[in-house]
Amino acid sequence: MDKTDQYWMSRLLREAANQGTRCACVALCVLALIVPACSRTDAGAASASAKPRVVCTVGMIGDIVRRIAGERAEVIGLIGSGVDPHLYKPTRNDLVLLQEADLVFYNGLLLEGRMSDSLVRLAREKPVVAVTEGLERENLLEPPEFAGHFDPHVWMDVSAWSKAAPVIASALTKLLPAHRAEFEARLGELQQELSSLHAYVTSAIASIPAEQRVLVTAHDAFNYFGRAYGIRVIGIQGISTESEAGLNDINRLVDMLVEQRIGAVFVESSVSDKNVQALIEGAASRGHSVRIGGTLFSDAMGMEGTYEGTYIGMIDHNATTIARALGGSAPPQGANGKLSLPAAAAPASQGVR
Ligand code: ZN
Repeated sequence: MDKTDQYWMSRLLREAANQGTRCACVALCVLALIVPACSRTDAGAASASAKPRVVCTVGMIGDIVRRIAGERAEVIGLIGSGVDPHLYKPTRNDLVLLQEADLVFYNGLLLEGRMSDSLVRLAREKPVVAVTEGLERENLLEPPEFAGHFDPHVWMDVSAWSKAAPVIASALTKLLPAHRAEFEARLGELQQELSSLHAYVTSAIASIPAEQRVLVTAHDAFNYFGRAYGIRVIGIQGISTESEAGLNDINRLVDMLVEQRIGAVFVESSVSDKNVQALIEGAASRGHSVRIGGTLFSDAMGMEGTYEGTYIGMIDHNATTIARALGGSAPPQGANGKLSLPAAAAPASQGVR
């Protein structure tokens, strides 16, 4: 095993230990991309349809590809909502889809840990594009817990993720040069929407009283969000199975929640309920009420066919939920009046109830 393998092995083991706690997120994040895959029949269908087939790993990529490709390509997603891309192992059907694809998009930066071999092999035969390749070194984070690797969760910073869009547009243009103008037009439109979204998230998070601008969540997916929008991100993950150190860390977190009068913590795929309860009870025993501010989408989008099942909707949901739960002033239905999940918690007027 080389260093990368060792890193992923330990990460996979750690995440596997947390699998039992992922149910809440799994229940919330329903398959976003599986429907187009199901609509396929067999290999013969490919030749019947003149459209090239574009296969994507995670939903956050598939959504951007669909936005730019429009009707010009058949876009298929492999990793459904609620499925952790770090742990995802391609099925036999996925391998067939990848084999048959005309173009493949993936995140890169080791997000799709268990698909790396298949993607590398495939890249010898067809265009296989890591959408994060358009990012500059300074856009990328290299937090200590990633052991010398870049943090792959770039989509959490809308302005950074919007740099993936031209990479997608240019690969689509190479595949379908006759539609260049169309792709460019859609890219421009999308980038405008992304830039308004970025502005919305910035102001929603900035509306949280400064001392309460702390995002307590367990998964390590929010580092880019924290950097881009000026909110301190504190994770619980990593302490869940270490009883002694875990207790100390939880006590430290309780101190911080009480001292800074932070009224909400967030549920998301790898947060242990036990730890969240420990935080809530610890704070309560000291006269400070903390509640669950909502469930955030981290590595997967919401339900297919809903606003939250799009990249923009997913980020809108996260930002609106966080802002409202922490005493900020985001509109209940988000940036575009489209949020449908009951996730935008009632505003915590003083952050304490
Ligand atoms: Zn992740």
